[in-house]
Amino acid sequence: MRLSSEDIVAVLKQMPSSILFKRINREEVYCSTGFEKTFGITKLNGLDESSIMFFDSQSKQKTAANTLPFYIAATEGAVSQQYRVQTQCRAMNCHVEGGVITTSEENWLVLYVRPDGSDLVANNQQGSAAGKHIVFNQLLSDFSSKLINASVDELDNIIDQALAGFGEFSNVDRCYLFEFNEDMALMSNTHEWVAAGVTPFIDELQNMPTSSLPFFMSHIANGLFKVDDVSSLPESAAAEKAVFEEERIFSILCVRIMVNDTPYGFIGCDIIGSPYSWNTFDIQYLRRIGEMLGNTLQSLHNRKILQKMQLELLEANKQLEQLANIDGLTGIANRRLFDTTLKRDIQRCQEQGLALSLLLIDVDFFKQYNDDYGHVAGDKVLIKIAETLSNSCLGSDDLVARYGGEEFAIILPGTDNIAAKAIASRILRNVTLLNIPHEASAYDKKLTVSVGLISQSNDALRSVYQRQGEQSAMWLLNHADEALYRAKNDGRNCSRS
Ligand code: GH3
Ligand code: MG
Ligand code: MG
Repeated sequence: MRLSSEDIVAVLKQMPSSILFKRINREEVYCSTGFEKTFGITKLNGLDESSIMFFDSQSKQKTAANTLPFYIAATEGAVSQQYRVQTQCRAMNCHVEGGVITTSEENWLVLYVRPDGSDLVANNQQGSAAGKHIVFNQLLSDFSSKLINASVDELDNIIDQALAGFGEFSNVDRCYLFEFNEDMALMSNTHEWVAAGVTPFIDELQNMPTSSLPFFMSHIANGLFKVDDVSSLPESAAAEKAVFEEERIFSILCVRIMVNDTPYGFIGCDIIGSPYSWNTFDIQYLRRIGEMLGNTLQSLHNRKILQKMQLELLEANKQLEQLANIDGLTGIANRRLFDTTLKRDIQRCQEQGLALSLLLIDVDFFKQYNDDYGHVAGDKVLIKIAETLSNSCLGSDDLVARYGGEEFAIILPGTDNIAAKAIASRILRNVTLLNIPHEASAYDKKLTVSVGLISQSNDALRSVYQRQGEQSAMWLLNHADEALYRAKNDGRNCSRS
């Protein structure tokens, strides 16, 4: 008995395997009940050729006309290749195998379209389930080792890769991570993976009020949101149902992610176009991915807190260091900073061939000033003098310090005797220009200062350094002090060197 074309169509259509078939050189494509079942096609939406699309399972690009499975089968006689197959209802990574069947009447192209892992999921044999576990564990260990070593900058990229790996492994259409804001009033989609041909939604899902999805929130609060068939959601989930239906989501599975014992967000996946019964393994797998992300985010969070604490400590130390070097009354350098700077500058100037000058400034008749105007007024004078001294020195390396009591000192690195004398004169003038009344002063009853100065050319500085070593600073200070004493003896309001 010979089979007619009608018989061929009738027989293939009833096959429980997932089959696509067509006549060579004809457009019309038929599918088996097995294909309809696999791809969730109901009689209502039916099938036409344009509704089946083939994508490269690696590049996700639409397959070119000359690499379509029907084309290869027709030209080469057989095809055996991976594709991502998409119908109106859903898309899956499939192995497509087939060839030409020749009958007396016509030649047929027949493709056996087998979704990846379907044999593992379909028959619940021990070996197959174990095989899937092995693949999953491999996936998980790959990503956890990447995440352990990840820097903050790499994290986003690795999360994207983990979602893609999981999405492909479980053959879902979309896989995503959502984060709650601090008071859980808003949630945002931070990472999303979509299968080829599936519309991404990430841009539309930012800062969504959680109050708009009460049914979802009450379930995810317990750790899991699982819907096999969106059409069977209860009345209380009307808002969620509307959102899912608008996005053509038929099945959805989400698990909560905890960070530091508080809900951080959730990871989830969607199946578009047809309902799907999530099984225990699906839930377990997603939970483990969620735990892995939660642990990573937690350690990242802890690392950030640690970094912040370190920064605060460094900042506090810096402030302490500054405080330890600053005179509390006048805000300029204190004796401590002066001593270390002078030692350092002597060494540096003698090494670099620079001259160095040092000034000691003492307020004239200041004991009397305190007696006449009070200690508080005396303090104010010291603040003004410090300010005036700072303004009288223009070099960026100069250091103006409070040496003690009403005495100030100025280090002038790279400044020779002529320039230092000019600075001393400027200081004397600027102090008298402050016009601070001082009845006991012989100079127009105004407050004045006296200046002792020592300048060392580089040669002189070098020989002092060679003779005095560590004591060079003391040697310079003694000479400046002697000069100051001479200035006092010569009637004050003058500088001597
Ligand atoms: P001379 O012109 O010889 O320097 O006379 P003098 O009175 O300034 O000299 P002396 O060293 O005898 O007195 C310094 C005075 O400076 C003594 C002290 O009362 C005053 N003094 C020191 N430190 C401070 C301070 O922080 N605030 C105030 N208000 N006065 C201070
Ligand atoms: Mg004094
Ligand atoms: Mg004095």
